[in-house]
Order: sequence, then structure tokens, then C-alpha cells
Amino acid sequence: MRVMFYKMAGEKVLEAFDSSMDGLIEAQVRINSDEYGKNQLTEEKKQGKLTVFLSQFKDLLVIILMIAAIISAFTGNLESTFVIFAVIILNAILGTVQHFKAEKSLNSLKKLASPLAKVIRAGKKCEIAAADIVVGDILLLEAGDMISADGRILECYSLQVNESALTGESESITKTSDKLDGHLNPADQVNMVFSGTQVTYGRAVVVVTKTGMNTELGKIAQLMNETKDRKTPLQISLDAFGKKLSTIVLGICVVILIICIYRGMSIFDALMFAVALAVAAIPEALSSIVTISLALGTTKMAKENAIMKDLKSVESLGCVSIICSDKTGTLTKNKMTVMDLFLPDEGQESKNRILMAALLCNDSSVAEGKMLGDPTEIALAEFCMHTKDDCEQIVKNYPRLAEVPFDSDRKLMSTLHEMNGSYLMLTKGAADVLMGNTKFIYSNGLQRTITEQDIEEIRKQNYDFSSRGLRVLGFAQKIVDTNQISLEDEQNFVFIGLVAMMDPPRDEAKAAVSDCTRAGIMPIMITGDHKVTASAIAREIGLLNEEKKAVTGSELDELSDEALDQNLSNIAVYARVTPAHKIRIVDAWQKKGHIVAMTGDGVNDAPALKKADIGIAMGITGTDVSKDAASMILTDDNFATIIKAIANGRNIYNNIKNSIKFLLSGNTSGILAVLYTSLMALPIPFLAVHLLFINLITDSLPAIAISMEKPTDNLLEEPPRDADESILTKKYIGEIGIQGFIIALFTLIAYHKGLTYGAGVASTMAFATLCFARLCHGFNSRGNQSIFKLGLFSNMYSIGAFVAGSCLLFSVLMFPALQGIFDVSDLSSENLFFLIGCAVAPTILIQAYRVCLELLKKVRP
Ligand code: ATP
Repeated sequence: MRVMFYKMAGEKVLEAFDSSMDGLIEAQVRINSDEYGKNQLTEEKKQGKLTVFLSQFKDLLVIILMIAAIISAFTGNLESTFVIFAVIILNAILGTVQHFKAEKSLNSLKKLASPLAKVIRAGKKCEIAAADIVVGDILLLEAGDMISADGRILECYSLQVNESALTGESESITKTSDKLDGHLNPADQVNMVFSGTQVTYGRAVVVVTKTGMNTELGKIAQLMNETKDRKTPLQISLDAFGKKLSTIVLGICVVILIICIYRGMSIFDALMFAVALAVAAIPEALSSIVTISLALGTTKMAKENAIMKDLKSVESLGCVSIICSDKTGTLTKNKMTVMDLFLPDEGQESKNRILMAALLCNDSSVAEGKMLGDPTEIALAEFCMHTKDDCEQIVKNYPRLAEVPFDSDRKLMSTLHEMNGSYLMLTKGAADVLMGNTKFIYSNGLQRTITEQDIEEIRKQNYDFSSRGLRVLGFAQKIVDTNQISLEDEQNFVFIGLVAMMDPPRDEAKAAVSDCTRAGIMPIMITGDHKVTASAIAREIGLLNEEKKAVTGSELDELSDEALDQNLSNIAVYARVTPAHKIRIVDAWQKKGHIVAMTGDGVNDAPALKKADIGIAMGITGTDVSKDAASMILTDDNFATIIKAIANGRNIYNNIKNSIKFLLSGNTSGILAVLYTSLMALPIPFLAVHLLFINLITDSLPAIAISMEKPTDNLLEEPPRDADESILTKKYIGEIGIQGFIIALFTLIAYHKGLTYGAGVASTMAFATLCFARLCHGFNSRGNQSIFKLGLFSNMYSIGAFVAGSCLLFSVLMFPALQGIFDVSDLSSENLFFLIGCAVAPTILIQAYRVCLELLKKVRP
């Protein structure tokens, strides 16, 4: 029979799993894990190595080629059958290796982005991977957490959960720890929490009742199994382009086939040649080059603290023109230190009261000698501990009875304690918000009505602290009637004092802000903090200057959409904003055609993160919900990392562009050479095996080496790419055509020289020239600058690919055994040097052209 945990008392559920409020002990974790299984949803079966390997042969042309090779074996030409098969199999192996390498790096990225869970085990609070949760674990939930298992709520503090992932209901559900009766659907089991749902408010302590496939989510997991990894926009447009190009190439191949037959070649040989030409010239690798570049690029980015959750965003990353960043922790160090206090009087009583409030209205905790919690809370607790000796005693004497947790919309937090027989509510929060609800003041141990003069003095003090870049928190108290508090109690406060904290800017923030400006990107600060504090910090890091201004959330509310649109490019700082303002700011910039990156950490930031083109979550301080909504996670929460990621995004895009240019210009040269000889009624310049050999050694390593090119400094000198611009601009296609033409030209020069010795030598010369020229062309394709600027040795992979390819080519040319197999003639040293000259010439020409351009630029910038 199914056990209905919602009908059981909390203690009974604990008993059922041999657990307690102190959590499971290590041995019991193992027992429960063995008995109830791991907390993992079974994933769709991944393709095996053999399936991936076999899928490499799916291409119709490859199949035709193989059939042709088999027929060729029957007609006695065993050698070419052998070579064709060897080349095709090698190609398939390379394809398979690339597939798994890409998959492996993407999987490790996914792992990096998977959530953690806070649990109590053997009496200690610890963080474990969500997959390691077992039934009976005591789970601690707070606003922003993704719930990773089903559980029965034991303690509940205003907990609200968004269960839309499970029920489709978008309103948050208020939970309870009470026992329930009757037959209830999961949606009505309000004393239970469910895997895959999100805590939007409050806190709770929960005992895990179901994990993995046994959870409610697990039951519908089959329906939810993640949709297939979809292709990126670039891949889709390249696929479409590839199809068009293939049709053209096939058309050319048919023409060549007819010409060959017309010239008297046997139908079989002509067909074999035409198919090999098609295989070599059709750029089947376009989409996979994108996958590989993205996989390699994102792995590198993860090492540099930016985890890309969504490959599609890597493409947009290079187009980012606006970065909206939080202040606290992203532009600043998030290392708070209390610097100053303001109290209504000089007496010890007032000082004691604010210290007590800072200590009791505080969510930080100590575990194994280390302070845990929000830096603001830690700073306050540390300050109290340095100033007062009896802190532990105070916390013990006045336990928390109830609370209204902090949220960044309200900017306040309150706790309730029993003191001298009455209920005392302590509140802390943004000083201006707190002051708006204050009626009294606590001075010399007594409470009195606050005067205009008091208010003026507090305002002035708040301003003074803020203009020094300090973050100011106000403290207040209030006696309430019951042992419960709610939002309605947060008014008619009794003011206790102000605490000013310092959170210095990060050392690298200033340089990162100036990098942004250099790269044509506008950095914008969006913060919950006070306008004066925010402006002081913004000025210090160069984000705010005379031309730019700072506005507050309420000033923003007063601006109409048109007025905002007009002022948008002048506003560099938005202070005292709520998460809802963030959406308006993103929207306004997007309407102007900008690609916006936006950071966020709280649960309320999720909609803005989703709305931004690149939603960026904080890896350290961010909630699970924000990480879930984001497309990028910063593992170091650092603004400078965003700039690095953008540079990497630009670089990945450039590398993809360059790899594709390399492939297409090489293919063009082969086609042009064959077309020329066909039209001029000359002997064919390449045999089928030659074309396949060239395809094998140039389409693999050199193309990948180009996609490994490191980012250069000047990546940030250029403005962001236009998001609507296609990769295949006229200029780009023109360059492909010209480079292909030059290589074809020199290949044919070598061919004609060979022709004076006979068709065999001509074909060998053409094959070797084209192959070696394409290997050299790998260096041209590394970027648009000359190799002297790029540095010959700055990409060792491209040297490696060149050396490996050259060794293979010259082995085929030199070793008699290979000469036979590949049907190449012995070359005189004169011919050999001639062909090397012809192969190197296109690269020399292209490089010379670039050097001239660079010199011209120097003379006339
Ligand atoms: P940013 O938005 O740049 O991260 P922030 O940390 O100031 O800056 P929020 O966390 O939304 O933004 O905080 C807004 C305001 O709420 C703060 O300026 C502070 O006055 C107040 N505040 C922040 N943390 C707490 C807290 N733990 N308890 C009470 N009030 C807080």
C-alpha cells in the first residue's frame, strides 16, 4: 500500500526513515541509498559508440562511393578499393572521436551547472550534490532554492513554492507543516514539497520522502525528457547554406561526369571520379565544425569562470552591446565590514540595543568555526562579536519566534523575540524604506515620538555615509501583541540607529569597465542599494561620469516609456530598484535593437534573466532559481569575467567563421581546377583517391586547429557584431572565391608543368600542390591579420596539423609502397621543388597583401 506522508505527523515520517531532526548518520545514508535508490532521473539512452560510428556512413554519397569501390575491386583495381575504404573509415573514426569529445565537454559543463542541496547530516549543516540526497535526509530550504526531492515539511516559516513545473499553476502555493486529512492530489498536499519546484519565499525544514524516479516529477519524467538538443541559429543557417551549396556542387559534378564520359572515360571511372569530387567538395562538416568549436570554446570559458548553459547564447554573446550588472558582489568584492554607527544618543543603552538587534535580526550562522550566510549578515554578526562578549548568551536567551524574511522588493527583514514578558519585533533594512515607516525613536533607554529634527539628522547622516560609498542599514524595533508577525506589522517603527558598511569595488572592476567602453559595450549598474552609495562606487570604477546620470527606481516609475527611451543612453546607474524595474530596463534597450546581458541573483530576478538576451546568474551568491533561468553562470560572481566571456564569445564566432572559410575556399579550389581541365579537354588532374585523401587530411585537423585559435587583444577593439548580420556576407563569400581561385591557379600551373612529362606526373603535381597549398592555407585562415601579427607559434595546434598533414602527404609522394597505392608518379627533385613553390605561393601572396594593408593602416590610420 502507498504510504500517504501528508497524513502522517512529522515525527512519524522521521521514524519511518530512521531519521531525526539531526539528520541521518553516514551509515544510515548508505542504507537508505541502497534501499530507496539514488536521487537521479533515468536519462534517455545515449547513442553508443557503434551507432555514432555507423551514422557517419549515412551520407548517400559515401554509400555510392563505397559501392563504386566494391565494384572496382571486382574489376581488378583492388588497391583503390582498399584506399577508398581506408579513407572513409578513417574519416568516420575522426567524426566519431569528435562527436564524443564534444559530448564529453558539454556533459561536464552540464555537471558544473547542476544544483547543490543544503542538508543536515549527523547534526551538521552541509552542502551536497542534489544527486546525493537520500530518503530520510533533512533538507533545508530557503527562497530561491530548487527543490531536488519530494519531502514532508517539518518546520515552515512563511514558505511559498512555485509548483508550475509540476502542476502548471504559476501562482506560488503557501505551505504548512500541519498534518492533513482526506484524499488529496499532490497539488493540494500543502505540507509536502516536490522535486523540480522552486521556493519563492520563506524557509522550511523538510524530511525527504521520495527521490529520483519515485518523486512526482520522476513519474512524469518520461513526458518531460528534455527535448532534443536543438541546433543553434548559426547551425540552422549553415545547414540551409550547405544544402544550397551541395545542389550547386552536385550540378557541377553531373556536368563533369558527362564531360568525362564524352571524352571517352569508362562510365564506371567517370562515375567514381564525379562521386569522389562531390564527397570532397560538399562541405558536410559545416554544422559539426560549429558543434566542435562551441564545445571546445565553452570548455575553455568554464575554466575561466563562465559556464554557458545554453550553446545558442554563445553566438549572441559576441553581439552584446549592453551589460546590466548588479553592484554588490559583481562590481564590488562583497566583503562587508562595518565602518561606522549612528545612534540617537551617546549612551551605552542605545549602543547595546543596536548590537542586540544586529545579532538577533540576523540570518548568518557558524559552522565548524566558519561564518555562513549573506556577507551583510556576516559583517553585522562579526561586528557584534568584536564589540560585545556575551553574544552567544544573547542569542540563546532570546530565540527567534517568528520572522518575515528579507526580500529585495521590500528591502526589509524582521524577526520576533520574547523579552521581559513582551514580544519584541526587530527590523533591519534599507534606511530610507525603514524611515518611511518610522514614528518613534529609541533614545536614552526610552521611546519617544520622532521629531522633524531627528528625521533631518538621520537623513543627513545617511547621506554622509552613502556619499562615502558606504552601504547603510537602518535598525528599528516594535512591541507586538502576538507571537506571530506579518508584513502588516512592518510599520510604526521605533528607530534604533544606522550601521554603515564598506564593500570596496573589486580590483579588476575599473579595468573591466574601460574594456567594455573600448569594445563598444555600455556597462550599466542596477542595484538595490542607495543612489548615493551606488553613484560613489560607480564613479570610483569609471562607470559614472559627467555625461551620465544615476536614477532611482521611483524616478524611473515617473518616466513615461517615451521619456525613458530618450534618456536611456544617459543613465548609467539605476539605484533602489526592484526586480520588476530590471525587466523594464532590458525591454527599453532591446526595443532600441540592442543585445542585452543582465546579471541577477535573487528568485525575483528570474523573469529579467529570461527576458535578457544573455541572462547571467551568480555562481556563489545566486539562487538555484536564478541559475535555472540564466543562460550563463559566473562561478566567481565577477563583472570582469563577463567581459572575458564576451571576448571568448566573439572569438568562438570568429573561429567558426574562419574554419568555414578555410573549408569552403579549399573546396572551391578543387572544383575550379577540375572544371578548368574538363572544359579545356585536358586529362583529369586528380584521381578519386587523391580527392578523398585531400578531404581527409585538410577537413579534419587543420579545420579544428583554426577553431582553437586564442582570443587576441584586438577582439575588444571592435564594436559588437550586428546580431542580424548573416555569417555569409558578400565580402566573406568574395574572399572565399578569391582565395579558392588563387590556390586553383597555382595548382594548375604545377599541373601544366607536370603535363610536359605526361598525364601521370601532371596529376601527381596537381594533387600534391593542391593538398600542400591547402595545408599552408590553414595559416591564412587563422584570422584576418598577417601571420606576423597573429604570431606563427601562438597556435601550436595549427603547426601540429600542418606538420602531421605534410608528413602524410610527403610519405605518399616519397615511399614507393604508398606511391603505388595512391597512384602517384615518382617526381624529380626539380618538379618537387616546383610544386612546393606553387603550393606556398598563394599563402605568400595572401600574407603579403595583409602586410601591405597593415602597413598602410599604420601610415594612414
Ligand atoms: P545589488 O542589487 O547590486 O546586488 P544590493 O545587495 O544592495 O545590491 P538587494 O540585495 O536587493 O541589493 O538589497 C537592497 C537593499 O536592501 C540594500 O541596499 C540594503 O539596504 C537592504 N538589505 C540588503 N540585505 C539585507 C538584509 N540581509 N537584511 C535587511 N536588509 C537588507
